[in-house]
Amino acid sequence: MTTTPRPPQFAFCPYCRTALEDRDEGGRPRRYCPACGYTQYLNPAPGAGVIIMRGKQVCLVQRKYPPRQGLWTVPTGFMEWDETIGETAVREVKEETGLDVELTALHEVETGVLPPNQPVLVVFFTARECGGELAAGDDAAAVGFYPLDALPGPIAFGAHRRVLAELASGQGIILDPTGGAAGEAS
Ligand SMILES: [Zn+2]
Repeated sequence: MTTTPRPPQFAFCPYCRTALEDRDEGGRPRRYCPACGYTQYLNPAPGAGVIIMRGKQVCLVQRKYPPRQGLWTVPTGFMEWDETIGETAVREVKEETGLDVELTALHEVETGVLPPNQPVLVVFFTARECGGELAAGDDAAAVGFYPLDALPGPIAFGAHRRVLAELASGQGIILDPTGGAAGEAS
């Protein structure tokens, strides 16, 4: 278990508006609707993060909006209900950077908290460019490729900081532009 803050709980049933009650479910307290049976599960929200390299430089996006406005992440965003996590990754890269990418590998899975209290599970992929033109999207203040040892500013989220630190230290595998493991660990 972690020190993750608990996400907000509903006071009323989002389906039938009945006041929710607390109920123990296998040792976990859950908010439960006595009228329709709805139970609120406090699950993390899944999202994707994408590592795109140009040589030893990594693609980073500066956040235009809160939370952590002005700070940097790899292209990232939440999964929509009707897409696969791979589709999320490709879509978020396009929206934030203008680039078309093909995913090359599943890199790492991290958990964290989107401030103030939204638990998230971020699936990090590596990807290679296959089209498009680098340009900051509507929700990005800036986008570019930066050396792993000279990042343009503070990284917004712990999960992204860990992944970038691993890449910089050579613990993560850096991919060459053709997608093969180049072992450029320096
Ligand atoms: Zn209900």
